[in-house]
Amino acid sequence: MPNEPISTGDETQLLGAIDRWLERDVRDKVMALERADEYPREMVAQMRELGLFGATIPAEYGGLGLPAGTYAKIVTRISEVWMSLTGIFNSHLIMSKAVERFGTGEQKERFLPRFASGEIRGGLALTEPNCGTDLQAIRTTAVRQGEDFTINGTKTWISNGIEGSCFAVLVKTDPETQPRHRGMSLFLAEKGNGLSVGRKLGKIGYKGIDSAELVFDNYQVSVDNLIGGEEGQGFYQTVGGLELGRINVAARGVGIANAALKEATSYSQVRETMGKPICEHQAIQTKLADMATRCQAARLLTEYAASAYDRGERCDMEAGMAKLFASEAALENAQECMRIHGGYGYSTEFPVERLYRDAPLLCIGEGTNEMQRIIIARQLVARNPV
Ligand SMILES: Cc1cc2nc3c(=O)[nH]c(=O)nc-3n(C[C@H](O)[C@H](O)[C@H](O)COP(=O)(O)OP(=O)(O)OC[C@H]3O[C@@H](n4cnc5c(N)ncnc54)[C@H](O)[C@@H]3O)c2cc1C
Repeated sequence: MPNEPISTGDETQLLGAIDRWLERDVRDKVMALERADEYPREMVAQMRELGLFGATIPAEYGGLGLPAGTYAKIVTRISEVWMSLTGIFNSHLIMSKAVERFGTGEQKERFLPRFASGEIRGGLALTEPNCGTDLQAIRTTAVRQGEDFTINGTKTWISNGIEGSCFAVLVKTDPETQPRHRGMSLFLAEKGNGLSVGRKLGKIGYKGIDSAELVFDNYQVSVDNLIGGEEGQGFYQTVGGLELGRINVAARGVGIANAALKEATSYSQVRETMGKPICEHQAIQTKLADMATRCQAARLLTEYAASAYDRGERCDMEAGMAKLFASEAALENAQECMRIHGGYGYSTEFPVERLYRDAPLLCIGEGTNEMQRIIIARQLVARNPV
């Protein structure tokens, strides 16, 4: 069930608190943390105080119970300053959403309050070394022995893999079943014996947040941690979280696109060539105009998808369009911002280069943009039969 709408006054107050935090405690520290690829521990504590780990978790479990529209605005604002911070609570909230939508009453009571407070943080463990897009090809298995399952396999690229302590892990409980998705299940796996971090993965951007390999080696988990209590539902439960995940990524794209536009708009007014600011040259003006138009279009597509989600409507096509457009807008704006900065755009002294390194991830995560086009086209035909 979608969360209740929030009043305009409450939303303004909340967004104001986020803006004040970003200016007071985040903006000036980003460059040093990003360079050192250091986990922003202090900011994580502040995000707990702000309630971000429970942003979309219903109030009855201690969360803020925000609708997707308000949540997307928060993600955009934070991404304008440092996108990595949003990754620390985004996949955590998708894990929480799976428990909220599909978990048993006992699982909701046991996990959601601690997820909401940020006492337990984590994310989603779906991808494996041999597959990301084709999730039905996963090899991690969970074999039942009485009331316990034994999980074996390796997951990779797991956000919060080192700092997090609990993951929604997708496994095969029946590797022989056809179609393959009927043999898949989703478990909540808390770190302990048999679950270890393989290695931290190096990345060109998205620094600060840890991406890691997780190794399950005879990891024992009780049937009580099988989400929903029934085997064979894991693929459906995972796909069920993708719409919100894609709205998240779209909102990040709007943030990066906006940040690039802001940097370019200011720089182009202070940099002079041929006796005038470069913003007065037509070649730069067309770039600024296209960047600003992309920002508006990306924001509107994201809001449109989020409002369909909040009305409880099917919105895979809308979320796919928002994710596709906003992530490409982020990439294009980051590159144009770099060109407008000339040689300084290639320097590591300006924020532009971080935007340029962060943006491409958005075209890959939560379903690649190639896959978004396929989803959009399929829905287009399904919704318009002749
Ligand atoms: C920084 C980072 C963080 C991540 N965080 C997480 C996380 O927290 N949890 C998690 O589970 N995963 C995570 N991932 C993994 C991510 O979801 C996958 O990388 C992504 O789904 C793509 O899968 P893949 O890398 O296996 O590429 P592949 O599936 O091998 O795809 C390779 C290329 O082929 C294209 N392709 C594949 N199939 C088709 C098709 N049918 N039609 C057309 N084109 C196709 C793809 O679009 C892509 O261009 C993360 C990845 C990164 C880089």
